[in-house]
Amino acid sequence: MLIELAHPREATMLDPQKQALITEVERLKPELLEISRFLHANPELAFEEHQAVERLSRTMEKHGFSVERSVAGLPTAFTASRASAEGPTIAFLAEYDALPGLGHACGHNLIAAGSVGAALALKAALGEKVAGRVLVVGCPAEEKGGGKIPLVESGVFRSVDAAMLVHPSNRTEIVKKALGMRDVQVEFFGKASHAAATPHLGINALDAVILAFTNVNALRQQIRSDARIHGIITHGGKAPNIIPDHAAALFYVRALDMAYLEEVYQKVLGCFEAAAMATGTRHQVKRAGSDYHPHKVNYALGELFRKNLEALGAPVDQGPEDEDLGSTDVGNVSQVVPTVQPMIAICGPSVACHMPEFAVASASRAGEEGMLLAATAMALTGLDLLRDRDALRRVKQEFAGGMRP
Ligand SMILES: [Zn+2]
Repeated sequence: MLIELAHPREATMLDPQKQALITEVERLKPELLEISRFLHANPELAFEEHQAVERLSRTMEKHGFSVERSVAGLPTAFTASRASAEGPTIAFLAEYDALPGLGHACGHNLIAAGSVGAALALKAALGEKVAGRVLVVGCPAEEKGGGKIPLVESGVFRSVDAAMLVHPSNRTEIVKKALGMRDVQVEFFGKASHAAATPHLGINALDAVILAFTNVNALRQQIRSDARIHGIITHGGKAPNIIPDHAAALFYVRALDMAYLEEVYQKVLGCFEAAAMATGTRHQVKRAGSDYHPHKVNYALGELFRKNLEALGAPVDQGPEDEDLGSTDVGNVSQVVPTVQPMIAICGPSVACHMPEFAVASASRAGEEGMLLAATAMALTGLDLLRDRDALRRVKQEFAGGMRP
């Protein structure tokens, strides 16, 4: 389904510097569309986004940015930066990984092209009056593996004053929270035996997994409504006539803040321990990845973006901030630097990301219009932060724990 989005050219109330940015995105349009279409036609999975990175970093170099490849030890991460005089650093985050079997059903092709477009347009505004640094951070593996986590840990965002990216969606919203998330793998070790002839000689590791789920189910009633615990059995035995000597499960624990996540996580560990005790198995707990942190919302930054988006003629349809939440590694970035990740509608409400129809929307006219709108609104917001020190101060004050404006 196509939806009509306001065209950037309809903007009227903006000052000449902002008008120039709008014209610049217009000028870049063919190049941005090519990037978006290339990524869409060549979907690459998490940590394998070699063609995407090659394409994006070559584009940035062509426009005079200095590109650093393989940042934080990740072959498909990169940074591209361009500075005028001393000033704040504004980062635009590019995601570019696709989903197994579904291609760009999360629209990361649009995210990458939008962030590149914002950076190229804002770079054109750099000069005596608009001093600072424009940075693109190429972030691999948003869908699986959390590529931004090592980027944060390696200090890529240490010199950044504000970060942004726009995610395509079925609704145009400025603020959407995200849950912190921790994975935990539990293995139980028992003793194999013939399940009919000599069950009394066995120790059943699968029973321990089943009890672990039962314990977690009991726990679930006593936890806060924002917390989530969900798991799968990854190993459940070899044959019905063998008492399983090894069984394993993988769980995710989520919550809106890390302190509560830690509390629930400890209780989940207790569920595993009790299951081991009841069955006489030995158990071992392992973590596969790093924690995804909750999204630390910055309303001041969101407000700047909202004003620019509305000035471009795009209405905002803000829904509840803390319903229907997932987790994203953008959360980790938001904990170290003021970050905004608004959503721009590219399809109707019956289509949601990670559906095959969303991959279609990500290559549609509405998708491309949404991407250009995102690039323009982000460039305008970047300009606000570079030329209006009060605006940046409000953003930073809120980040540091000051009052929400
Ligand atoms: Zn996704």
